[in-house]
Amino acid sequence: MATAIRVRFQGFPSSYVATRWQIPNYRREFEAIPENSSCVFIPRTGSIFRNSKGDKRPLELSFDDTRKWGFSDPDDTELIFARAQSADGSELFCLRMVLNAQHSTTNTHSNTFRVFTKLVKDAKFHSTHLVEAEGSFVPIHYGMWIMDTGEWAGKVLFSITQWCGISWNALSRTKMNTEVNRILIGRTFEALHDFGIDHGGLPSPYDLRHVLIDVHAPGLSRSDLLDGKAPCYIVDFSEARANHECTRKLPILPTDMFLRDAQVGCVEITDALRMLKFMRTVSNRTPGSVAIPTAKALEWHAQYSRLYPDAQNVHVLVAQRAKLYHSMPPVYPDLYTSFESDELYARATIGPLNTNSDQGTQAEEGVDGSPAESILVNMVRVTRLDDPVAV
Ligand SMILES: [Zn+2]
Repeated sequence: MATAIRVRFQGFPSSYVATRWQIPNYRREFEAIPENSSCVFIPRTGSIFRNSKGDKRPLELSFDDTRKWGFSDPDDTELIFARAQSADGSELFCLRMVLNAQHSTTNTHSNTFRVFTKLVKDAKFHSTHLVEAEGSFVPIHYGMWIMDTGEWAGKVLFSITQWCGISWNALSRTKMNTEVNRILIGRTFEALHDFGIDHGGLPSPYDLRHVLIDVHAPGLSRSDLLDGKAPCYIVDFSEARANHECTRKLPILPTDMFLRDAQVGCVEITDALRMLKFMRTVSNRTPGSVAIPTAKALEWHAQYSRLYPDAQNVHVLVAQRAKLYHSMPPVYPDLYTSFESDELYARATIGPLNTNSDQGTQAEEGVDGSPAESILVNMVRVTRLDDPVAV
């Protein structure tokens, strides 16, 4: 595994050598940097950003704007991030940087120290809890690094992660703000919760900045971008909690009523419904294409759970979506769901689609009959790894 890389800023007389920075008292490994990326390049324009203090939209900065970060503590509440590329341009990375670290990480009460702490917490959470999901709906994390840039910005401590696109905070003000793209974000949050992770609450009106959509992913047409086909990722796990057993009773889809936390069954899912403008409120009387009455979906969840007490909640939710929301995109496109009969509460069988069959939709042997819930959970995990849920 490479323990040193070169970082080159366009127009600088020389590149800098960055080495892996070991988080104190922490021994877990991070993903190895791809072999073709021993040197990463940061172009002069369109590459360096900081989220604004107000609405947290990313603002582009110049190399010169950036270099004094860490010396004006009241202003330096957000870190600097850079879009870097491998020498051959085939890989894109996000470098989240704490500049002038020899100064900015010394005062434990400063804003800059808080930024540094969050960066480290995110790195630790990735390598402890997110390895299986990296590259699917969370970015690949390549660990923490440090380089001495001398007069430019002193010691620069930074994380390297997969570049995952543009923040929803910026995209939501564009034509990308379609209902199907908001459903895409909802599906990604549902997959995260099924994976056992609570992002940490979405209490601020701007926290959907942690949702990124890769609008430059290869092979996407303009209509794909508007139709929820682009990869979607959730980032920044500095406040996240693992071992979340999600007890939501509804999908993140447009509703026809106002819902409280207890009705939805999960506080963060309620927040997501509200922030994606899927919840009917006084100010939002037309929440979009409501597939069925929300009260009926809640009743279906309660009744199905009563009839089949051995079914894990993730199974109930997959079955609910297939039964009541079949016109909506599924959370897991590679799972099939079939029902024993046409009855409203017929038992569901869920399994992986056999993509090798001629029809491409035939079920594999051995998973029909009474589904083993532990198998389902494993299938959900495998599905995520083999075929990113958001694509
Ligand atoms: Zn949840």
